[in-house]
Amino acid sequence: MPLMEPYRIKVVEPIPVLTRAERTEAMQTAGYNPFNLSADRITIDLLSDSGTGALSAAQQAAGALGDETYAGARSYFRFHDAVAELTGFEHILPVHQGRAAERILFGAMLGPGRVCVSNTHFDTTRANVELSGATAVDLPSAAMKDLDSDDPFKGDIDLDALSAMLAGPEDVAVVVMTITNNGGAGQPVSMANLRATAELCRAHGVPLILDAARFAENAWLVIQREPGWSDRTPAEVARAAFDLADGAVCSLKKDAIVHMGGFLALRDRELATRCEAMLIATEGFRTYGGLAGRDLEMIAVGLREVVDPAYLRTRAAQTEYLAELIQAAGVSIVRPAGIHALYLNAGRLLRHLEPAQYPGHALACELFVAGGIRCAELGSLYLGVEDAEGRLVKPAPYELVRLAIPRRVYTQSHLEYVAEVIAGIAKDPESVPGQRIVSAPKLLRHFHCRTEPIS
Ligand SMILES: *Cc1c(COP(=O)(O)O)cnc(C)c1O
Repeated sequence: MPLMEPYRIKVVEPIPVLTRAERTEAMQTAGYNPFNLSADRITIDLLSDSGTGALSAAQQAAGALGDETYAGARSYFRFHDAVAELTGFEHILPVHQGRAAERILFGAMLGPGRVCVSNTHFDTTRANVELSGATAVDLPSAAMKDLDSDDPFKGDIDLDALSAMLAGPEDVAVVVMTITNNGGAGQPVSMANLRATAELCRAHGVPLILDAARFAENAWLVIQREPGWSDRTPAEVARAAFDLADGAVCSLKKDAIVHMGGFLALRDRELATRCEAMLIATEGFRTYGGLAGRDLEMIAVGLREVVDPAYLRTRAAQTEYLAELIQAAGVSIVRPAGIHALYLNAGRLLRHLEPAQYPGHALACELFVAGGIRCAELGSLYLGVEDAEGRLVKPAPYELVRLAIPRRVYTQSHLEYVAEVIAGIAKDPESVPGQRIVSAPKLLRHFHCRTEPIS
């Protein structure tokens, strides 16, 4: 089967195409920070797959039926039933997005001296653990260290390290499994690893929570890659994963294909009651949680659309196709390709640049100047450590650039365009200048800093 999107386009949005001179000027005005670019300068936006998906006609029609009743809206029950059918959890709280679920849950479960262990905490997840006063510990699998290996489940947690941690002196209050592992290059978690994690957690009386933003994409990769699962449906695999956990925090801006939403789901009534009080105080009443009735309706439809094998097959094939084109142009990516994003190995492509010249950031800037493509650096600008004078003293382990792929938004020809721009850069990588920091705040540096090319 050729790569063919299983939908046709009914509503279109023009995309800006600027000249190279206009893009260079836009980049200068933005202080060489892609986060500062306005959308009307961007041709292909691969900054995030979060809240950037295209709604279906069925979602829009459902949205029109949104019931905006303050308490007990019909839309809430449709949302509730869709989440319950998918996850099997008893207590389901809507929230405005994933991080609100994290804040509420960790506020109730964690606190100073306690520890949260994960295959890899996503950045807001870590921030909410630390805001509670607790410590976040990542235990990624050993396979994650080799960017080039084709290990099918690099997103797994390191079970030996987890076992030692649970048996050790630390006060581990919760284990969070991120599926797929967003902080770990979007790599999937195997059902075998999830089951073993659940058994360890149960043996030590520690709850297991899924950070399930990409539950459907993880399920699809399990079906493709894990022995024993190939004849199951994505919904069955997702349910099997939720069945192993005591609860879930979930951003619905990814696999529910909506622009806003999330949920917190739990089995434990007492914990759910405490979370509900916090929800009402900070998000909204328990039947809307900061969302409009129309959002709840569109989520209910999106959760059923996302587990359609025809959709997931095409989405995975799109990413795989872009990965093939990029590698054929001689550019390395973190292998194997996941689904929601590809990670370019900028350190390897721009060998002429030191980590202190921020090769990942340099490549992200070049992708915009050369082709109007916006994406995010995941390298020393984001993860490196600087001294008081702003000199890079500890580079990130890898210099990567993330190309996130919005759901149902771009077609094959858009991806071919992206690959062509990357191939053009790969023909003469040494012409890409390094970057130096002009100004940078201490907090959330990569969102706010300004840089300039080194001439
Ligand atoms: C996006 C995301 C979150 C946070 O969700 P928001 O809806 O952006 O608040 C948490 N965990 C993972 C794995 C995510 O991808």
